[in-house]
Amino acid sequence: MKLIVANWKMSLDMAATKKLLLDIKQNINSENQIVVCPSSAYFDMVSDLLCDSPISMGAQNCFYEKQGAFTGETSVLTLGEFGCKYCIVGHSERRSIFGETNDIVSKKAALCIENNIIPIVCIGETAQENENGQTKAILTKQIKESLPQTSTSENIVIAYEPIWAIGTGKSATIEELNEIYEFLSTELPGHKLLYGGSVTPENAHNILAIKGVSGLLIGGASLDAQKFEQICKIKY
Ligand code: PEP
Repeated sequence: MKLIVANWKMSLDMAATKKLLLDIKQNINSENQIVVCPSSAYFDMVSDLLCDSPISMGAQNCFYEKQGAFTGETSVLTLGEFGCKYCIVGHSERRSIFGETNDIVSKKAALCIENNIIPIVCIGETAQENENGQTKAILTKQIKESLPQTSTSENIVIAYEPIWAIGTGKSATIEELNEIYEFLSTELPGHKLLYGGSVTPENAHNILAIKGVSGLLIGGASLDAQKFEQICKIKY
């Protein structure tokens, strides 16, 4: 059984979120574990729609303090109230657009763990770092600094998302991924390790077959019910 996570980002309005979710819910009879991460404004609607479904809900982000004067932020307590099981933390868009450092990512992940929400911590190198042969060094630093001391193989999920592959249509090759997942499996023994970056129904099968890959984090293809369903139906 693999873990397939849909990151809907800020791409859908309420009607489109509902339609996509109903389509997916109706057609998915998957042996995989499916998680959808809608905009937090729709948690209420999505949790209602998922009440009789094996699909879980996740959040795209949270804040690293539980409560207080933090205008515009979303608390892990709110995530818990709506039944979020997972929370994506440190997505490359959060790191690059909102200035999230490894330290901030680690604090967010720690608070999720403390509140029984599984953080999906994203790590990955830029195109430049990849070209310079720095990928493993970058990943080692991100793992060391973004994972809280309380994390174990049971309470955290890691998503390797090479930044140059996100939303570009340019996914990493199977050879590259074989090497990376061998490395990650050694660094993080027993952990669930996802891959994200231009996953499609065409490449998902080969990526899921890589030793060490426990699932996928999907952006673009998760917005298309048919494509997402095709990926979710892949059996292992
Ligand atoms: C993502 O944003 O996490 C992602 C993997 O996007 P895409 O699948 O569109 O590359």
